[in-house]
Amino acid sequence: MIADSVATTVAGDADDAVLRVAGAAKRFGASVALGGVDLDVRPHEILVLLGASGCGKTTLLRGIAGLTPLDEGTIILGGRSITELAPASRDIAMVFQDGALFPHLTVEKNIAVGLRTRDRSPIADGARLLRIDGLLQRLPHELSGGQRQRVGIARALVRRPALMLMDEPFAALDADLRLELRRELRRLHEVGELAETIFVTHDQTEALGIADRIAVMSAGVIVQQGTPTELLETPQTLGVARFLGVPRIVVLPALHSLVLAVRPTDLRAGDGGTGATAHITITAVEPFAGGWLVSGRTGAGIELEVVVPWERSPQLGEQLSVSCPTDRIHVFDEATGHRLDQPSARTLELWREVTHS
Ligand code: ATP
Repeated sequence: MIADSVATTVAGDADDAVLRVAGAAKRFGASVALGGVDLDVRPHEILVLLGASGCGKTTLLRGIAGLTPLDEGTIILGGRSITELAPASRDIAMVFQDGALFPHLTVEKNIAVGLRTRDRSPIADGARLLRIDGLLQRLPHELSGGQRQRVGIARALVRRPALMLMDEPFAALDADLRLELRRELRRLHEVGELAETIFVTHDQTEALGIADRIAVMSAGVIVQQGTPTELLETPQTLGVARFLGVPRIVVLPALHSLVLAVRPTDLRAGDGGTGATAHITITAVEPFAGGWLVSGRTGAGIELEVVVPWERSPQLGEQLSVSCPTDRIHVFDEATGHRLDQPSARTLELWREVTHS
């Protein structure tokens, strides 16, 4: 039975991982789709796998589900190895981008496909949870895209799997529906109806909105795992820094084999700022959520961006002082792209040298 009770879900830690993937590798001919992936899903968490198209997200998900055999690696779910098990024996449910419904079956029968007991009551419970209880006798072609996805999620949910895998389940929907279903999923998670989940997306807004933790994937490997805040505040590579955050982080020209980067939302406009300061001449102004996104150049020709409050009405050609706490400036090794933690006095020296301020 699917309970209506409200359970508080607090993500657990790495030691008691529900899913542990170690060294997952997969080649297709000469191309490496997975280059040795280690990944944990902790109790009660939605882990988002985020990365650009072609980085290996779907291959990893299908490898975990057993739909694509891995060349190497082990998968432990709930303490037992499922590496060699057939997909149907893995106790994993998957939700696909298109819902993958059977076109000739009603909503009710589509949901029932996932059930292994004679007890039919989970169907009504699942339909009620996903708010599709009025649609049980319809066929898939009589549903909207959003309703079809709800059926796909209900079908996975009623199986009560040990792990839920979702591969871009909202990608085909419009922005409002995506937001609505994202919130719905979080709600199911908060009330304890959703098993531990890996949710694949290439959309950072979706990832930040739905994740307890995010694993950022690039070229077949996971480059960083952490909470949304950890990834935004301490990106471990320049790639992660560039991939996450709106507006995009501004990367300054390399100097002494180091690269500085600063988020436009961390810069403040106005005289008297402390920390890293600069003077810019405004070259572009565009509206951005919460203010103007102002671009400008320092005397040395370095491009910076800063978010300025609406009431300030910045003008092209205007001179603007900007500042940023030194600890909000990210420093990366130019050759490896890896984050460097160095004394803030050194970062400040570098900032002054690069921006000529
Ligand atoms: P997207 O976001 O576009 O779905 P993805 O991150 O899920 O991309 P995958 O679908 O896992 O990426 O693909 C990873 C790499 O493996 C890509 O280079 C892809 O072309 C390749 N690949 C995936 N499946 C196959 C296959 N069946 N045969 C050959 N190459 C494949």
